[in-house]
Amino acid sequence: MPDFSKDISIKKPTAALHDANLAIRGKLGLQVPTDPRRGFTDRMEALSHSVMIGYKNRPSAAEMAATVVACQLAGRVMKKVNDQFASVSFLRKSETQLMKDVLDAHFGLVEGDTAGGYLKDNVADKGFSLKSIKGKDRRWVIEKLRRNMLSLSFHLNTGIYLIDIDAARRDISGGQAVAAGSIKSTTEAYVGNVKDAKDPVTGRTTSWKAASDITCGFTRGEMHVSFKEMATYSPLSYARVIIHEATHKYLNTTDHGNDGYAHSAQYRTLSLTDCLKNADSHAWAAISLYAGAVKMKEQVDYWTDWKQCQKP
Ligand SMILES: [Zn+2]
Repeated sequence: MPDFSKDISIKKPTAALHDANLAIRGKLGLQVPTDPRRGFTDRMEALSHSVMIGYKNRPSAAEMAATVVACQLAGRVMKKVNDQFASVSFLRKSETQLMKDVLDAHFGLVEGDTAGGYLKDNVADKGFSLKSIKGKDRRWVIEKLRRNMLSLSFHLNTGIYLIDIDAARRDISGGQAVAAGSIKSTTEAYVGNVKDAKDPVTGRTTSWKAASDITCGFTRGEMHVSFKEMATYSPLSYARVIIHEATHKYLNTTDHGNDGYAHSAQYRTLSLTDCLKNADSHAWAAISLYAGAVKMKEQVDYWTDWKQCQKP
């Protein structure tokens, strides 16, 4: 673990540009605009070769250490999960019982169930036939998930940028001024930039690109995480939060209101198509496959898995 005793942060380029603009206007006697879209965090720091964070107030050494551990774990989780999907999809190995249980619990993909006719058939380890190339079947779902997991693995193993929510002191949210300390401190994390999406922190509606216009992950906002809150989570639970947010950013998933969270009763009634666009379905499937056991299987598992998920 790196030594966090020395502050090696730099001013964010956008913040530096903003400050320079104001300074020049001040010097020239020009009107200094009050920028309603100024950012809240103005410093960034590289915690490792692949983890960069943005913040206003430097997080504690413990919070930064927990962040590095969780980011590295999130990368390892996705590598392993990607391999497991590839072995079924590419190598045509049989699905493990764990894979079947995870697909059942987190995607509602139960053998024999065609998801209301959405699938042509749903047979595990179905033999290859030219006929089955056309139409959606169980292998089609698994292949779709493999691509999603590969994308997450790629992004989370390339480099992760996290911005601190810093709920206690934040006075800007979604580009708008808010009273410091007035935002919800229990928010784990979020990714911005979906048209008419409610900012989970302020409850304010943001007006960015419509989700349907987004074809590339880079047009979504950055991943915001509460470092303070996350430092109290187990590494696996913190990694789950990062994976969840990464699905929003790179796969353009939603939370289906609050129905998409694995601790809601409605989670278990989501359709297969909803699950394929749902953040928690991917995050908990990945964590389960990595841990070797189905996590957040039931609503009641919230009390153990949400914040203190462990690999048995
Ligand atoms: Zn979410």
